[in-house]
Amino acid sequence: MPGIDLHTHSTISDGTLTPTELVALGKRSGLRALALTDHDITDGLPEALAAGVEHDLEIIPGCELAVDSATGFMHILGLFLPPNPVQLNAKLEWLRERRASRNTRICDKLQSLGLDVTYERVLEIAGDGTVGRPHIAKAIIEAGGADSVQNAFDVYIGDSGRAYLPKDKLTPEEAIPLLKKEGATVILAHPYTLKLDGEPEARRIKDLKEMGLDGIEVIYTEHTRTMTEKYGKLVKDLDLLASGGSDFHGTVKPDISLGKGRGGLHVPYALLEAMKEARAKQGLPV
Ligand code: AMP
Ligand code: ZN
Ligand code: FE
Ligand code: FE
Repeated sequence: MPGIDLHTHSTISDGTLTPTELVALGKRSGLRALALTDHDITDGLPEALAAGVEHDLEIIPGCELAVDSATGFMHILGLFLPPNPVQLNAKLEWLRERRASRNTRICDKLQSLGLDVTYERVLEIAGDGTVGRPHIAKAIIEAGGADSVQNAFDVYIGDSGRAYLPKDKLTPEEAIPLLKKEGATVILAHPYTLKLDGEPEARRIKDLKEMGLDGIEVIYTEHTRTMTEKYGKLVKDLDLLASGGSDFHGTVKPDISLGKGRGGLHVPYALLEAMKEARAKQGLPV
């Protein structure tokens, strides 16, 4: 049975395949549908949609937003976005400006700690995609401040590092309605990263549902069988949609294959059909 993949990244954020290459690989891999969900950016969607027409593969335009969370970390997927979500893009543009400002200020801090790390060099290292701490880590190594990325995070830019600065993020209360206004189906990605279990976990997901959350990622590369079963039950108990995807990033995460995760992943097309049925009931385009 051909499967689908509703969680993937391209060069537009931190993946290594262009949207066109990603779609071509999806087709070659025998997928029936593919969602592009780059981090905090939707610029790849027109290209992915065009490639979908060219390669005869159903494309679901999406994105993945990192939002504030009191526990662990929270990522929210918006699926079925319009190709040019104007209001969402304005907010994402603002977040990118904030990100650039944070990166600059981290570099300033590193300079004041005696390391020759310039924002210009960090930009060069980053190339096209989203610029962030992994690139700053490389610049720290170049400047002789650390001998590994992990070491650079531990000493300088990790959450308790000497040059650390927090990142501006949307709250779920902002992000979910923002996605809903664009007509998206809103999914909590890899729910286990909230680092909750049992009643507190169910309560948090219920709260998100009240903000407009439509579903959660039940099938995911890093989920154990127990987690998949737990989240499968949770979507039934809370009347949510189930989603599934690999979180494919190309060669930066070489052990994760498109549509197949670490080999055993299978996301049935029926999940997408259920989403479309729910959307049709809400009068949303499918
Ligand atoms: P940024 O969005 O600029 O804050 O960078 C976040 C990225 O940094 C994450 O996606 C991770 O890849 C990486 N990262 C965060 N914390 C660590 C850590 N302690 N060690 C290694 N990489 C990390
Ligand atoms: Zn990523
Ligand atoms: Fe994520
Ligand atoms: Fe992801």
